[in-house]
Amino acid sequence: MTPRRYLITSALPYANGLKHIGHLAGAYLPADTYVRFLRSNKRDVVFVCGSDEHGTAIPIQAMKEGTTPQAIIDKYHGIIKQNFEDLSISFDIYDRTSSPVHHETSSEFFTYLNDRNELTTQASEQYYDEEAKTFLADRFIKGTCPNCGYDSAYGDQCERCGKSLSPDELINPVSTLSGNPPVKKPTRHWYLPLDKHEQFLREWILEGHADDWKTNVLGQCKSWIDGGLQPRAVTRDLDWGVKVPLQEAAGKVLYVWFDAPIGYISATKQWAMNKGVDWEPYWYDKETKLVHFIGKDNIVFHCLIFPTMLNLHGFILPDNVPSNEFMNLEGDKMSTSRNWKIDMQDYIDDFVKKENGGPQAVDMLRYYLTQIAPETKDSEFTWKGFQDAVNSELVAVFGNYVNRTWVLMHKLCGGKVPRLHESQLDDADRQMLAQFKLTANDIADDIEHYRFRDGLFKVIDLARKGNKYMQDKEPWIKARQVDAAGVVTEAAQQQIDNCLHICLQCCANLAIMINPYLPNTAAKMLNMMKVVDKMLDWENAGKTKLLSVGYSLRAPELLFRKIDDSEVATQVEKLQKGKIEAAVAQETTLSAAPVFAEEKPEIIYDDFAKLDLRVGKVLHAEKVEKADKLLKLEVDLGYEKRTVVSGIAMHYTPEQIIGKQVVVVANLAPRKMRGIESRGMILMAEDAGGKLHFINPEEEPNPGSTVS
Ligand SMILES: [Zn+2]
Repeated sequence: MTPRRYLITSALPYANGLKHIGHLAGAYLPADTYVRFLRSNKRDVVFVCGSDEHGTAIPIQAMKEGTTPQAIIDKYHGIIKQNFEDLSISFDIYDRTSSPVHHETSSEFFTYLNDRNELTTQASEQYYDEEAKTFLADRFIKGTCPNCGYDSAYGDQCERCGKSLSPDELINPVSTLSGNPPVKKPTRHWYLPLDKHEQFLREWILEGHADDWKTNVLGQCKSWIDGGLQPRAVTRDLDWGVKVPLQEAAGKVLYVWFDAPIGYISATKQWAMNKGVDWEPYWYDKETKLVHFIGKDNIVFHCLIFPTMLNLHGFILPDNVPSNEFMNLEGDKMSTSRNWKIDMQDYIDDFVKKENGGPQAVDMLRYYLTQIAPETKDSEFTWKGFQDAVNSELVAVFGNYVNRTWVLMHKLCGGKVPRLHESQLDDADRQMLAQFKLTANDIADDIEHYRFRDGLFKVIDLARKGNKYMQDKEPWIKARQVDAAGVVTEAAQQQIDNCLHICLQCCANLAIMINPYLPNTAAKMLNMMKVVDKMLDWENAGKTKLLSVGYSLRAPELLFRKIDDSEVATQVEKLQKGKIEAAVAQETTLSAAPVFAEEKPEIIYDDFAKLDLRVGKVLHAEKVEKADKLLKLEVDLGYEKRTVVSGIAMHYTPEQIIGKQVVVVANLAPRKMRGIESRGMILMAEDAGGKLHFINPEEEPNPGSTVS
């Protein structure tokens, strides 16, 4: 049964930074393909998304960039929205959660649940900054990591050793706002008692959707439910977000996980307002099919928590949540902090905005990301794989077939769609014609069931079959069968006509079938065929008479270009370089990168042998008056006692060094320092931070022992 209408959502990207192609492949591209397919089926569909602009990471990013949270969300909302547009993701609305409509919608949602006693409250203790007069989110507390000793670990994680932490575990915690140690203060929060809804979730998901949800999604849901659901805090002490609409909750905002998915509802409202239509059927009418496209890190929110909220509020529940697994990159997990990623912006700059780029470059990426979509397990993006997919499938199979068909039609059929001579059809012709409908049905079934990769494979497979059909028919050989006047014989021309007629109808079908996946390619083919957009309606897929006989067609355009080896090398190099830069930057912030003093000019052994190095023992040490850096030492060299003045007073107190074994340059010419004659010099090591360390013999040889 066909739903009356569809509401399709893609996970709201967090507006604190650029988004990479792993995100694109996970939640946006498959949704766009699905939506384009529905639209071509003339279904009533709304595709909503927008920026998630709340949560602590926004003010933290603002601190990092030295600006305001508002400036951060404005910047990244703008970039991300444009990136999606540049990659042909066709949202009906790309909204943002900082909008007044969203704040209002989220407040109302909270009030609705709270008024009906669906929320509970609980007191707890939380860190508070008395100078900044605010409670502190975990990220706003820094201290020493109990695991590795790093002195700038955050309250939620140590960025050096990677260990997850709670603020209570930090040694000497301080607030990042004031620099003062935080104090514990009592606070109270509102909770969604998920534990009370276990039965509902169990029945709805594990029984109700056992057959139509992906196994990876079901598996995660089951393990959450079996693990025991806990009440989840809905509010937090923070000043960035949707204010909790209660007088007693001053200074509190809704937790970002609570307000973000409500963003789908507010975006729908905003879209409806813009269009002058009613939003409510999309969220209340049971005949609406709601589908959430997400990555696997979002399953718990979209399958357990948000549906519980929707259910309590009387909204419809998602029909499916086709979550994807992760896409890795060149043998490693994509990571923003390690800069192991390809941002959408990178691809747009390096391919789409290049002279040989444009819409075809958009479709090349869409093709490869769908071909390796992590639908059932993690997958891997490699630049070599991208090159192979483009060169050996898009160029060599799809593009080549369309191009050959057009070239031959212009050469052998006068640039017009030739007649089909029914009486001359053979089995191969009939099989090829029958293939259109079979393929169309298969692809529709794949897309309806979120198997986008399989569907795309079938499009390419039809082009492959078309290529083989043409290769077997050899119209260019038949064109050599000429009569005495040099004209192609009627029998031969009929066979040429049939072959190219069928190939042209096949290409028209390919345009319809590729359209949900590669809309820019379909548009180019429409132009070559001189037909209107309506031809791309899915109801035309499988038809054998899409192009009228005698209709003249335009010259072929190149659909795709090849990717050179040099482009692959450039991209791989760029990735490696970015990773090293990130590692160096990380190292610099964690502990100053070592700076090595330049090596001195080479000497010969005789130069070295002139040094008389001896083990000494510090008998006495005292500060030198009016000289901050100097200590006056009495050193036992075994055969005599010496006075040595050493510039180590900034690093050691006299008490620290009495009794220490040291290495002394014994034959250094005496010199006077602050009126004291120094006879010799103590060897010290100086590290990158400028700190001095004694050079000690490991065991204690007698004073006076030589060193060489
Ligand atoms: Zn650590």
